[in-house]
Amino acid sequence: MIKHIQEIGPSKVIQLYFPVSDFHAIVVVDNTALGPSIGGVRVSRNVTVEEVKRLARTMTLKTSIAGLPHGGGKAGIIADPQDPKKELYFRIFSQAIKDLTDYIPGPDMGSDEECMAWIHDEIGRVAGLPEEIGGLPLDKLGATGFGLAECAEIACNYANLELNGAKVAVQGFGSVGKAAASFLSEKGCVLIAASDTKGCIFNANGIDVKDLIDIKENTGSVINYTKGVLKSSEEIFSFECDILIPAATPDVIHKGNAENIKAKLILQGANIPATLEAEEILHKKNVLSVPDFIANAGGVIMAAAEYAKKSEDEAFNAISEKIKKNTKVILENTFQEGILPRQAAEKIAKERVLKAMSYKKTL
Ligand code: NAD
Repeated sequence: MIKHIQEIGPSKVIQLYFPVSDFHAIVVVDNTALGPSIGGVRVSRNVTVEEVKRLARTMTLKTSIAGLPHGGGKAGIIADPQDPKKELYFRIFSQAIKDLTDYIPGPDMGSDEECMAWIHDEIGRVAGLPEEIGGLPLDKLGATGFGLAECAEIACNYANLELNGAKVAVQGFGSVGKAAASFLSEKGCVLIAASDTKGCIFNANGIDVKDLIDIKENTGSVINYTKGVLKSSEEIFSFECDILIPAATPDVIHKGNAENIKAKLILQGANIPATLEAEEILHKKNVLSVPDFIANAGGVIMAAAEYAKKSEDEAFNAISEKIKKNTKVILENTFQEGILPRQAAEKIAKERVLKAMSYKKTL
């Protein structure tokens, strides 16, 4: 198991401040053996150095197993995502990382294509741009949600589940959650619950995904959907469902709620949504949990395709092909070796990074 160790990183942990303003940001470049690091810019009042380090490591593993010419990095701007000074913060952030050429920013929680356009305007080096300025807008296109649905197609076979008719609960109905619900409903799944910071909406007979997306986008919350029962955000982890998709913040599945999870399959849409203890509990309960850096790689695969000037079709084909292949390989190894899916996946991801590191000059 890769612990939070120096073996492959982090190579840089930087804190950025700007005099005469309350701007504060964190950048972590975890590993660049495979190429310049790539990773999203999280905007949150609570983001910490430790969280950014863990997220950057996840990116190293994600880019490695997806076979991309990139290493892993991540950034966090400590601010409210609705802060009216957000554009100013992004412009300060861009100038501060101008010479940090081994880090390519992209969108993450609290940031979007518009924020990436501000970075582009300042320094050019960014992925996840709006299409008007040459981007493949990965959130608008639903790259990560598409990848989660492709992952589900393969993972269902290992969880004794029929995808058509499978009941799905989505924790965090943002860019990733909305797209995952949409692509899974195209494959015949039934959304029975969705949550955001304000609460959770539940309907055992199914929620109309298009209506829920409209309501979330027009009113700001899923709780305004009227054809369901209102529940607390935490209750999403205990519903009777087949597939659970955490698509919000870190460590939401932990030893305190893992035992109550009734889903047969968890697709980690969010980065680091489950603690290691929780993954062990789930494994013992025969709940299959596909790790973040396999299941949610759609976004970075599209970001890397945009950076390499590839087309939207090429990006979607790459997401489908890479995620399906990796899901199958790691789940085969999981069952053959009796290990956690995360252990099976880390083994492969780490091998490529270490091999690439072996070609580098050492001191
Ligand atoms: P987003 O900001 O668009 O959406 C996040 C959603 O989660 C919002 O609706 C918010 O209300 C909700 N939320 C926040 N805290 C919550 C809580 N405690 N309970 C319930 N809901 C909560 O963010 P996003 O881009 O969809 O990213 C979500 C997660 O997916 C993050 O962990 C991110 O790192 C990961 N991820 C995103 C992408 C991408 O392409 N955007 C790619 C890979 C991984």
